[in-house]
Amino acid sequence: MAGNKDFDLYRPSEEHDELRKVVRSLAEAKIAPFAAEVDEEGRFPQEALDALRAADLHAVHVPEAFGGAGADALATVIVIEEVARVCASSSLIPAVNKLGSLPVVLSGSEELKKKYLSPLAKGDSMFSYCLSEPDAGSDAAGMKTRAVRDGDFWVLNGVKRWITNAGVSDFYTVMAVTDPEKRSKGISAFVVEKSDEGVSFGAPEKKLGIKGSPTREVYLDNVRIPADRMIGAEGTGFATAMKTLDHTRITIAAQALGIAQGALDYAKGYVQERKQFGKPIGDFQGVQFMLADMAMKLSAARALTYQAAAASERLDADLTYLGAAAKCFASDVAMEVTTDAVQLLGGYGYTRDYPVERMMRDAKITQIYEGTNQVQRIVMARNLP
Ligand SMILES: Cc1cc2nc3c(=O)[nH]c(=O)nc-3n(C[C@H](O)[C@H](O)[C@H](O)COP(=O)(O)OP(=O)(O)OC[C@H]3O[C@@H](n4cnc5c(N)ncnc54)[C@H](O)[C@@H]3O)c2cc1C
Repeated sequence: MAGNKDFDLYRPSEEHDELRKVVRSLAEAKIAPFAAEVDEEGRFPQEALDALRAADLHAVHVPEAFGGAGADALATVIVIEEVARVCASSSLIPAVNKLGSLPVVLSGSEELKKKYLSPLAKGDSMFSYCLSEPDAGSDAAGMKTRAVRDGDFWVLNGVKRWITNAGVSDFYTVMAVTDPEKRSKGISAFVVEKSDEGVSFGAPEKKLGIKGSPTREVYLDNVRIPADRMIGAEGTGFATAMKTLDHTRITIAAQALGIAQGALDYAKGYVQERKQFGKPIGDFQGVQFMLADMAMKLSAARALTYQAAAASERLDADLTYLGAAAKCFASDVAMEVTTDAVQLLGGYGYTRDYPVERMMRDAKITQIYEGTNQVQRIVMARNLP
């Protein structure tokens, strides 16, 4: 199918539909019951990790050659979408396992792949991705973390900020400057292990949403790692980091779709039950039009996301554009749809007694991470189809 512009690739196959059913029933039975508690207590969704691991859904993208499920990009999107429909924090388990390990999949040596992808596939370890720093967010190439060669070793020093699943993950893809003269071409990527001497973590950030997903700083204090932990050649780390984002922005689009679908599903049910003026509020055309708009935007976002997933699978030339477009559009839709869902529940929607309030808070991050939506527009403008 490679290189084929067949339209069927934009649509889920029967296997994809079957996968969706399996993930939906697992998510509803084993993840949804804990979603409100995970948010309220700001704790890691261990129940979700256990359930996803038991069903082999925690890192579906890992190739079969390394013991993984070898799921294609669309199947990975469907897993993340269905988990996010009930709990956005939990959907960051499969999503960030892909984000953290994709640099190794794309650019790592066979030895690195064997060493790090196999435990990830088995569920023994999780992976995080360390690009951002306190003073280098949108301008990630302005990073200061340094890696200096010392014989057969590299010594890393610096601070990485906003690292999802920091402290929980055993493995970290870390981008660091190896040649300060060359800016982005002087950045290299490394695998750092949680157990490496000199690695430590900051306090968990107190966030608006995705409260169950730990976000912490990662401190690298004279971390000495073997030279073969470099991912790809020296100086290619920034290119690998950007190539990774081309693929994984689609998983953030998937997360946004799932959050929006969860809010729409809840609102659809609520308007049938809630009565005002002697009838269900769903009988009012003003309410029906809101639901129609929410569904319409979500359908458009899903079509764009699945088109981007097909491009990711085929490594199409327009992947960079489509990945940015899908992430930007789907996250804006998620913000609109969840805000409208709160509106449809009136005062009740504004309380934590109903899930749409959490979904609205969770939706916001999808407009910010893996590049803000302003940055996505810069990426799109530079790569217009
Ligand atoms: C919960 C959470 C989890 C995260 N997880 C990870 C992770 O696992 N790994 C990781 O490496 N990073 C992670 N990040 C970091 C995230 O990717 C950055 O926060 C994001 O890229 C923005 O960087 P910044 O926060 O420094 O904002 P800034 O870059 O300071 O941006 C501030 C504002 O300025 C705007 N802006 C900046 N430059 C331009 C421009 N050229 N044109 C127009 N507008 C511009 C931005 O759009 C934004 O609105 C996470 C962040 C959060 C909040």
